[in-house]
Amino acid sequence: MSIKVTVWNEFQHEKRNEAVRKVYPDGIHNAIADYLKTQEDMIVRTATLDYEEQGLSNELLDDTDVLLWWGHTAHGKVQDEYVERVYERVMKGMGFIPLHSSHFSKPFKRLMGTTCSLRWREQNENERLWVVEPSHPIAQGLGECVEIPADEMYGERFDIPALDELVFIGWFKGGEVFRSGCCYKRGYGKIFYFQPGHETYPIYYQDEIRLILGNAVRWACPLVRRDKLEAIHVTPKEII
Ligand code: ZN
Repeated sequence: MSIKVTVWNEFQHEKRNEAVRKVYPDGIHNAIADYLKTQEDMIVRTATLDYEEQGLSNELLDDTDVLLWWGHTAHGKVQDEYVERVYERVMKGMGFIPLHSSHFSKPFKRLMGTTCSLRWREQNENERLWVVEPSHPIAQGLGECVEIPADEMYGERFDIPALDELVFIGWFKGGEVFRSGCCYKRGYGKIFYFQPGHETYPIYYQDEIRLILGNAVRWACPLVRRDKLEAIHVTPKEII
């Protein structure tokens, strides 16, 4: 059965900033979706903040197995009502993959319950993304590390709760390190936070990064979904 994937992007920089438009002329969401569409086991759609209901309608979310999220400048514009929709779907089993600056997105912060703050610097530094869990499904097909020629530096401490699984550690030229590939389970849903991907670097065109995103979608796809979140009152099936 195909995995229904939705790539959501706030889609702001690409419309306003020439430097970003040069790298992602059709938006970051389409750069990611274009690759995922080449995967035979995926049905891929995109949505942006400009859409009706900010691209987060109940119909779309109910029909989404895995939601990828890219946000940066417009986190505050996403309405809380829609954030709750995403949160609820994750509790029921939907996979959620926040990318790069989406560490500060409302749905990720809601799911983590912490500030999700970090240290950062934009100085055209290379990043070495170390695979620290080679047996993890998200790391399949990679070598011992991925060289990213230029990325924004994200450094510790990243204010997130204890991880379920850490797949990648990013190392930056300035000496900082970062938990760059973080797996969580919340409710029935799986979450993978992935750090690489600043809007002025062509990171989402890099083969290894695309491979990681495809792997992450397959890993986050729900095996079981829950219908309701309410507590259920039950009587014994039989009295022993
Ligand atoms: Zn960035």
